Amino acid sequence: MTKVWFVGAGPGDPELITLKAQKLIAQADAILYAGSLVSVAATQWARPSCLIQDSKGMTLEEITDWLILQSTADATVIRLQTGDPGLYGALIEMIQPLDKAGIAIGVVPGVSSAMASAAAAVETLTLPEVTQTVIFSRVEGRTPMPEGESLIELGRHHCTLCLYLSITLLKKVREDLLAAGWLDESLIVVVYKASWPKEQQIIRATLATIKERCKQAGINSQAMIIASPALGARHWDEIKKSKLYDAQFSHRFRKAIKGDGNK
Ligand code: SAH
Repeated sequence: MTKVWFVGAGPGDPELITLKAQKLIAQADAILYAGSLVSVAATQWARPSCLIQDSKGMTLEEITDWLILQSTADATVIRLQTGDPGLYGALIEMIQPLDKAGIAIGVVPGVSSAMASAAAAVETLTLPEVTQTVIFSRVEGRTPMPEGESLIELGRHHCTLCLYLSITLLKKVREDLLAAGWLDESLIVVVYKASWPKEQQIIRATLATIKERCKQAGINSQAMIIASPALGARHWDEIKKSKLYDAQFSHRFRKAIKGDGNK
């Protein structure tokens, strides 16, 4: 049966594509990739006969028309998307016309740029007793934010914030986080083109200086902003350790060595 697959290509490095995605690419008859963010290297496993097209410059309707057109007989068609298709990927908008056309679809998850950015910077997004929550969000630009999701409101949680699509809005990020109680000295990490061989850049600065630092580095697109009270923890003298590896702590796979740390 024909299937259009919405496949996460990961953040850029072709080695961060899942095995499932790689297998589908190798058997695809047609691939439409989001060329503004997905490297053409992600199509390297495709057969020579596979039709490969960049969707840069196509409207949503042109994209779905193309996918429907290619879905003939038992063809395998791929819409290759950056990171994970379920994050800022217009996924449902593309699926609905296919549902209407009666075409079976599937989704393959991908490594999101938030994960790749944290890995590149050797940062953890959660740290015991510092923050146990991660918010994936964006700052309001042309797309309005739903009620209760402004950065001022989200920032009040003082947990880890991974901000997509917001690198040109650093002034607003600062204003909103200050209004939410963060300090100008709060650390911020920006990762440009996380995982892209040769192009990745990591900027470490504070809420007060990050905008200027990104400007100096010429970063104004394809960048992840991470604000978190756990940033820089690698260099802290003391951290609260995870209970999971605590010798005093019993769990399903291990008995505590002594004492009763399980309370
Ligand atoms: N679905 C994608 C996000 C698409 S929205 C994902 O899961 O990652 C596009 C935004 O993602 C960009 O504005 C940027 O904030 C972020 N982004 C995508 N690729 C990136 C990369 N390699 N490094 C840093 N940020 C990236």
